[in-house]
Amino acid sequence: MAQTPRPDLLRALPQVEEMLQSPEIKALGSLLPRTLLADCVREAIESARRAILADALREVDVRAIADDACACALANLKPSLKRVVNATGIILHTNLGRSVLADEAVHAVEDVARGYSTLEYDTETLSRGSRHDHVERLICALTGSEAAIAVNNNAAAVLMVLAEFAAERKAVVSRGELVEIGGSFRIPDIMALSRAEMVEVGTTNKTHASDYAEAIGPDTAMLLKVHPSNYRIVGFSESVGVTELRRLADEENARRSLSTCDAECSESLLIFEDQGSGALLHLDCFGTYAEPTVAESLKRGCDLVSFSGDKLLGGPQAGIVVGSRRLIDRLKKNPLARALRLDKMTLAALEATLRIYLDPEQALRAIPTLRMLSEPADSVRDRAIRLASALDDALPEGYAQVNVVNETARAGGGSLPLCDIESHAAQITFLRGNAQDCETFLVAKRRVPIVGRIKKEAVLLDARTITDADIPEAASALRAYFDALDVSTETTRALRNDPASRSGIRPNPAKSEATR
Ligand SMILES: *Cc1c(COP(=O)(O)O)cnc(C)c1O
Repeated sequence: MAQTPRPDLLRALPQVEEMLQSPEIKALGSLLPRTLLADCVREAIESARRAILADALREVDVRAIADDACACALANLKPSLKRVVNATGIILHTNLGRSVLADEAVHAVEDVARGYSTLEYDTETLSRGSRHDHVERLICALTGSEAAIAVNNNAAAVLMVLAEFAAERKAVVSRGELVEIGGSFRIPDIMALSRAEMVEVGTTNKTHASDYAEAIGPDTAMLLKVHPSNYRIVGFSESVGVTELRRLADEENARRSLSTCDAECSESLLIFEDQGSGALLHLDCFGTYAEPTVAESLKRGCDLVSFSGDKLLGGPQAGIVVGSRRLIDRLKKNPLARALRLDKMTLAALEATLRIYLDPEQALRAIPTLRMLSEPADSVRDRAIRLASALDDALPEGYAQVNVVNETARAGGGSLPLCDIESHAAQITFLRGNAQDCETFLVAKRRVPIVGRIKKEAVLLDARTITDADIPEAASALRAYFDALDVSTETTRALRNDPASRSGIRPNPAKSEATR
């Protein structure tokens, strides 16, 4: 029979006020606000209460509860959003912040963050300017479009386009393109939010031009094409290209111009492509897998194209829409454009990134996303060798083995989904400790977490996404893991009063000094 929780234990739990007066907690009073300390104390008491109710706590230790509360409070003094070393080999890792900014973009952000700026000030006319102007001309130059607008992200861009041009009207989309994209971006949900009526055509694997043709009516506002991102139907599948959609839209628009119905059907039928990754350069290194560029989509006949700023473009988080002046002007006047507008730091980073593209050769070198995507495998291998050798030097003897192995890197972020990118990694196989514990340590116990992955009981650190500057950090993190391993085994032995604690394996003292 299960024991009933002991009421005497529950009664012995301290009061919040009482705990706030304890010396440990009081000492934090000068560092942290009282409300925050009180929350942490409450949480610590609550977790002790839950432990008692679960019969996992046989004694109320006020000191332990105070320690818990202090640890919770002190965590607030450490940054939560911080730099990590990406050793996953996934270049546009959504969880790790997608694109790394080019130096020029970082400097531009710093400049406008530290001082006042010309965000909405025109220095030619000495009067109010528009924040859109800083990036619009560059985007047009790089995509061949007539006009452009940038907002918070591509999800926002899609929402704004649908709300402006398809609210209370119909938008036709292929069932094969009704996808969910990482971070719960679902086309049907965005449609509903914009009050556009979604008309699904075709089937999951095949949609024909005739499916679109049959769906088009006088209240159809747009044909929507969605880049399926990291989802692909391979094999028995068919979708309709923009060129063909253009033909259908032109036919419909010719009909509309002849008809004498009300204003609604005199609006032209638009083709809008949500392109997602937003390639500005054709990356020849990816051969047939290369994503179409924004310019190509426009040339094929899209009226509007939207894409992300921090995927293949390699800039800050943003969503960009390109198209004719007439259509973009309507977007600029939509209240959503105001609600979803970019801040000065993002604009500065975007402008600086776009400017680098004016010289495509320079873009491949200076924009980290493009550099990582296009770096030759030999050069990645050389860095993997440098990484492995730094790790090996940092290791105490007999604890692990480090090798360089062939690996496959990925573009990530839904870009170039079918593309295996040749890569090389440092592979750590464990003679002491193990891959799972080491992976947890490298992420959870380090000021700069090292994010790699595990494959067959080994930790892999992929050299495609690591820079040379990251190598010392990775080496000292690995060293720290093995040092911590020794401390914990020695403590366990000492607790057991095991004489081996004085004669057991020790870290190589020469090496451990060097890395301290
Ligand atoms: C990534 C992506 C989005 C979402 O873009 P965010 O910039 O993350 O908001 C929308 N559509 C497609 C096709 C995408 O690939």
